[in-house]
Formats: sequence, structure tokens, C-alpha cells
Amino acid sequence: MAEETIFSKIIRKEIPADVVYQDDLVTAFRDINPRASSHILIIPNKLIPTVNDVEEQDERALGRLFTVAKKLAAEEGIDQDGYRLIVNCNAHGGQEVYHIHMHLVGGEPLGPMLVS
Ligand code: AMP
Repeated sequence: MAEETIFSKIIRKEIPADVVYQDDLVTAFRDINPRASSHILIIPNKLIPTVNDVEEQDERALGRLFTVAKKLAAEEGIDQDGYRLIVNCNAHGGQEVYHIHMHLVGGEPLGPMLVS
């Protein structure tokens, strides 16, 4: 059984977070350390630690990450200029929190995808 992270507590509203969307499958909240003027994390309510742990039965929840990203990008007013969706995996991917999450980042030009 995977170990819960702080994100499970955010889903259950046990700790404060700036939650901008929640339904039966996913929760979205503003990143505590925003890297751009819009930076929202969208996560499945089910604890899936990394992309390596994804199973076929998770496809509905993980597909919802995209429909919610689209909706929130429009609400943030960044959909037409554009934005970036990022999912980090494990150490080389720079993953810090082991509850799979999609970063929705935008509101300004984001530069090259990878900075070397
Ligand atoms: P990652 O490096 O992809 O695992 O990203 C984890 C993200 O979670 C980072 O951008 C953190 O700033 C963010 N984060 C960590 N704790 C919290 C929290 N309590 N509320 C909101 N965002 C958080």
C-alpha cells in the first residue's frame, strides 16, 4: 500500500489549500510555490504515487486531469496564449510529492521546455 502524502490531506480538506476545483475523481489547487503567475496542481483523488504505478482502471481519473486542465486554463484566462502541462516522475523527473499530479502552468511566456 502506497504511503499517503500531504496531497491526500488536501483532498480530504484536513489541511488548508487554495482548492479551485474538486469532483468525485480529481482535485485542483494552487501550487504553494508558484513558478508562474498561474500554477495549479491537478491530482486524482485516488493515491497513485507515480506514472509508473498507473493502471488501466485509472484511465478515467487521469483523463479527467486533462478536461479539468482545459476548464481551469479557460477560467484563468490563459487558454488562448497557451500554457504547459507537466507530470514529473521519480528522481530524474524532479518529482517531490509521490501522489501523481499534473502541473498547469501559464500566464506568461514559459521559455524552452527544458533548461540545461
Ligand atoms: P513535483 O516536483 O512535480 O513533485 O511538484 C510538487 C509540487 O507540489 C511543487 O511545485 C510544490 O510547490 C507543490 N506543493 C508541495 N506542497 C504543497 C502544498 N501543501 N500545497 C500546494 N502545493 C504544494
